[in-house]
Amino acid sequence: ETPNKKPEIKGKAIPGIKNIVAVASGKGGVGKSTVTANIAVTLAKMGFSVGILDADIYGPSTPIMFDVEAERPLSVNIAGKSKMKPVENYGVKILSIGFFTKPNQAVVWRGPMAAKALNQMIFDAAWGELDFMLIDLPPGTGDIHLSIMQSLPITGAVVVSTPQNVALADAKKGVAMFQQESINVPVLGIVENMAYFTPEELPENKYYIFGEKGARDLSEDLKVPFLGEIPLVQSLRESGDIGRPAALQTGTPLETAFKEITRNIV
Ligand code: ADP
Repeated sequence: ETPNKKPEIKGKAIPGIKNIVAVASGKGGVGKSTVTANIAVTLAKMGFSVGILDADIYGPSTPIMFDVEAERPLSVNIAGKSKMKPVENYGVKILSIGFFTKPNQAVVWRGPMAAKALNQMIFDAAWGELDFMLIDLPPGTGDIHLSIMQSLPITGAVVVSTPQNVALADAKKGVAMFQQESINVPVLGIVENMAYFTPEELPENKYYIFGEKGARDLSEDLKVPFLGEIPLVQSLRESGDIGRPAALQTGTPLETAFKEITRNIV
């Protein structure tokens, strides 16, 4: 019995793309896309060439977070082949599964179907030279993840979690998924999002709304690196909604926090 036999394609180098980093979360809504978007703009500010492949088939939010929701990738001709040209903003190239589905229409993707669409978005697209491609994975640890992990040469994975127990339990499953033998993707570390809240009028106070240091402790338990923490900040939510990632703004604590996390990845 060989249920998860590795397909040949794994490890196939993608010309021009140096690193593929998968960003995962066990649970949905923990800020995986927000963290991905802000790591991407931070990498771009550090001088790296960056792309995001938004593979979150359940709720592709990257187009909104980069204010490119109305745009569509153009078709370009490269060496006689028609290729998709990623949309670009803030120095980040973007392809999203959201560009290929109708808004307000639920699409039920099976693992192999989703993997095929994503394969096309990687291999049939004109990404150019990339130092980093970040893949915003769907939440969870289902067959879609297996298909993606087994068909793409992933360099490493970042797991995002809040400190809350239900999120941590799922993050743990996420780490286990990457470490299982048939997948075997190095876990670069865990990011703790929504780590605490500090009211403006009480700048010294930290309120641990979702629990204290849960993801930090989990990374210790699992012996994977802790990449850093992001507090619960209203402006981070707002910047996502208006499509301008918070880390673009210089001289802010959020910029610093994302820089630290990004430095721990590169
Ligand atoms: P996921 O990709 O895990 O589903 P999102 O990145 O879409 O999560 O985040 C879910 C919601 O929480 C979004 O509205 C986002 O703006 C908000 N959010 C994420 N992280 C933070 C944070 N640290 N502070 C405030 N709001 C946040």
